[in-house]
Order: sequence, then structure tokens, then C-alpha cells
Amino acid sequence: MMTKASYLPIALRLDQCQVLLIGGGAIATNKLRLLLGRGAHIHVWASRITSEIRRSVDQGIVQWRDDPIEDGALRALLPQMALVFAATDDDALNKRVAECAHQQRVPVCAVDDQAVSSFITPAFVDRTPVQVAITTEGASPVLARRLRQKLEELLPSNLGEAARFMQAQRGWIKEALPEVDERRRVWEAFLDGVGYEAALAGEHERARESLQALVEGRERQGEVWLVGAGPGHPDLLTLAALRLMQNADSVLYDSLVSDRILDRVRRDAERIYVGKKASHHTLPQRDIEAELLRRAQRGERVLRLKGGDPFIFGRGGEEMEALLAHNIPVRVIPGVTAASGCGAAAGIPLTHRDCAQSCVFVTGHARADGVLNLHWPSLAQPGQTVVVYMGLGQIGVLCQQLIAHGLPDSWPMAVVYRGTCADQHVVTGTLGDMPQRVQKEGLSSPVLMIIGEVVHHRGVGAFPAFNAFASKEEA
Ligand code: SAH
Repeated sequence: MMTKASYLPIALRLDQCQVLLIGGGAIATNKLRLLLGRGAHIHVWASRITSEIRRSVDQGIVQWRDDPIEDGALRALLPQMALVFAATDDDALNKRVAECAHQQRVPVCAVDDQAVSSFITPAFVDRTPVQVAITTEGASPVLARRLRQKLEELLPSNLGEAARFMQAQRGWIKEALPEVDERRRVWEAFLDGVGYEAALAGEHERARESLQALVEGRERQGEVWLVGAGPGHPDLLTLAALRLMQNADSVLYDSLVSDRILDRVRRDAERIYVGKKASHHTLPQRDIEAELLRRAQRGERVLRLKGGDPFIFGRGGEEMEALLAHNIPVRVIPGVTAASGCGAAAGIPLTHRDCAQSCVFVTGHARADGVLNLHWPSLAQPGQTVVVYMGLGQIGVLCQQLIAHGLPDSWPMAVVYRGTCADQHVVTGTLGDMPQRVQKEGLSSPVLMIIGEVVHHRGVGAFPAFNAFASKEEA
């Protein structure tokens, strides 16, 4: 029997093949999941089967036999099989099946018994037709699983769709470019360009157009990615944001985007700081739009990285419109907005059902004439949480107006400075005393205000855990 092993990972074609699965419990069900959808005829041999296996039997995908597993019957069946899995919880039975299979030279995997198995199943990431298999040759299944997890995060969920698109183009590309080197160059450029992103998004026409341009040697088309970077902590970036950050040629970012997040942007991407703090913008909005446009027209993949969510008080809408007016494709990736981030980090449930049936997000940014123009009667309501963005400069007026429109001056309120960041600071108080407290604490922008009885439900900071302690120590 085999004891020491060395393995070659191969991709086995299973359509029209027969596969035998011995066992009908949880282990066998796991193996069945691996096998389904690969065109194999699957036989399950077990006295009893799980409801999941039964579903496949009922659908006619799997054949089930429940007679006792006897050597004679096994030997008769094995020669027709391309693979055998011995997946019962009976080690002796698994071993017996494996021995039979060896004698008949049929590849066999006995679960949890590598010594008698002629193959093992790798951990894998499935983006069919793209599949990544990971094997440690049995050295550490936990390590294999961990690697799988990493790859799951890394590989876009629509990778399979992009691969299928590329497959469908191979015929005409081969005719257009007979030289293999030339074709490789075009495909490399495609993967680096906007065409690949379009293929991932299922926009085949645009992907094809981009490929056509590369084949004809036309200039690359630019694109702008309007990406939400979340409230500050890099772990709150979305997977889509991370991927685009890794692919961009240039990045235009705000003051809300922290260094720790910028560290994740591709090293050789050009970085352009466009500032933006209330009333002293580093680049006026129109110049930002012009810069985005200029770069996209040059063929760059421009990353417009914004704090929080690009469409929540981020002027993302204006930037999108300006670009679309010039036929520049824009892709929008949402981010965790400050309200969600600060709520979680301060441990304040924004809509606790005991006291808030609604939650409104308002801007506390005053108009050019200095007037804070909000609809006070609808904001000064019980049963509601009011979240104020950009409100620090007007906090006095804000609290005063809410009281004037009917809320008691004991109405709870929290102010969160740089929520989710390492230097996060949370101050709680009331409409009556908050303006003074904020001054005493010397808080500066960015802060988010959360007004409403939900503040009384404040628990430990939910994200990230250390901030719950950090803010207590500072307080
Ligand atoms: N698009 C952003 C908001 C931009 S407006 C989003 O969705 O979050 C800028 C305001 O957002 C700041 O003045 C502040 O009120 C708020 N803000 C953003 N990030 C914050 C953070 N980490 N902590 C506290 N407030 C934040």
C-alpha cells in the first residue's frame, strides 16, 4: 500500500464519465457537491442518503443503489468507473473499497485516509471555467483552506464570465492577428485595460469594442472609476474598490482618504491630491472634473477615490454627469458611508427599533450666504435618528434650531471624530450641551453627528473592536 506520496495536480475531464461515490452521509454529500455540474454520471452506493443527495437522485442527476456493499458486486462495477470516492464514516469499509479499486486500477480517494488513496481532492476556488486548485499534498488542509480564502477575496466573482468572453473572441482574433506574439500583446493590454473591467461587468459590447481598438492599434479608451473608500479603516474597503485601486493609472483623492488606504493603491499609479475641506477646497470642483476628463481622454484608467460612499454628500453625482456628458465611461463602486461606519465604530445602532423608525442623513454645510437651510420641522421629530454630515461649523445653530422646533434640550446626541480610524474619538451629550462640549474637547473636522434616542443604546464599539477601548481611554 502507498505510504509516501507526491502529487501532480491535473484537471480531469469528467463529462460522459462514470463516478462512484460510496457513502451517503455528510462526507459523501460534500464530495457530491464537488462532482455535480461536471457532466459525470454519478452513482451513489449507500444504505441511506442525506436529503441533499436525495434531491439529486429525485432530479435524475444521481443514481442510487442501497444494497449491501459486497466485494463481488463492487468488483463488477468498478471497471466502468473513472473515479471512486470511498466516503463513508467506516474506515474499514473505505479501506476495503480502496483496495478493490487499486486491484482494478481505478483511481480512488478514501476520505481521511491518504495512505490508501491514489488521489486527493484539492481545495479550490471555483470561477468556472477558471478554477484554482490548491494542494499541500495533505501536509496542512488548514493552510490550503486559508490560501483558498485569500484567493476567494482576490478573484472577482465574475472572473468566469470574463474568461468565457475571452474564449469567444479567440477565433476572430486569431484571424486578425496571425502572429502569436502579437495576440499575446493584445490580450495583455486587454487585461490591463478597461475592456477587462467591461467583460467582468458582463458588458460584452464594450469589452469587444475595446478589444477591437487594441487589435487595430487605436488609442486606448480611458475610463473613470468613482470609488467609495469607506470611512477610514482600510478593512472597510470593498473587494471591488481594492481591485480597482490595484489597476488604476492615476488616482485623485480627497483629504478624507487616509494614508493607510492610499497604501493599497498600485505603487506606480500617479497620485493627485484634490483636497476638500469645508470652504477651502484645494481644487475647485470644476477643476476636479476637468482633470478627470483630461486624464480619461488621454486613455488613463482614473480612480476617483472618495471618502465614504461617492453618492452620499460626495459630489459623485456631479462628477459622473460631467464625464458622461463627454462620453467618458464611469463605473461607480459604493463605499461604507460615514453614518454606517461611525454608527458601528461608536456602537450606536442607528435605527434601534425601540426608538427610531427612520434615519435621515442631512448636510450641515451652510449655503454660500452662511445660512444653514434645513427643513427643521421634519428633523425635530421623535422616533427618528438624524445624522449630520459636515456639520461642525454650524453645530450651535443646529442644536438651537432643533430645540426651537420642539426637541427637548436633553435630547441625546453623539459626535464622532474620525470614526473607524485609530484616533477615533466619541463625545456624547445632549442638544443643550453639545456645542460647548465639542469646543472643550477641541474637536475638528471630520466629525459626524448622530442625534436621537439611539445614542442611549450605545454599546461597545462594534468596529473595529480596539476603538471601543481607545475612545474610553481618551475620554
Ligand atoms: N461621501 C462621504 C461623505 C463626504 S462629506 C460619506 O459617504 O461618508 C464629508 C463629511 O463626512 C465630513 O465632514 C464628516 O461629517 C463625514 N465623515 C466622513 N468620514 C468620517 C469619519 N471617518 N468620521 C466622522 N465623520 C466622517
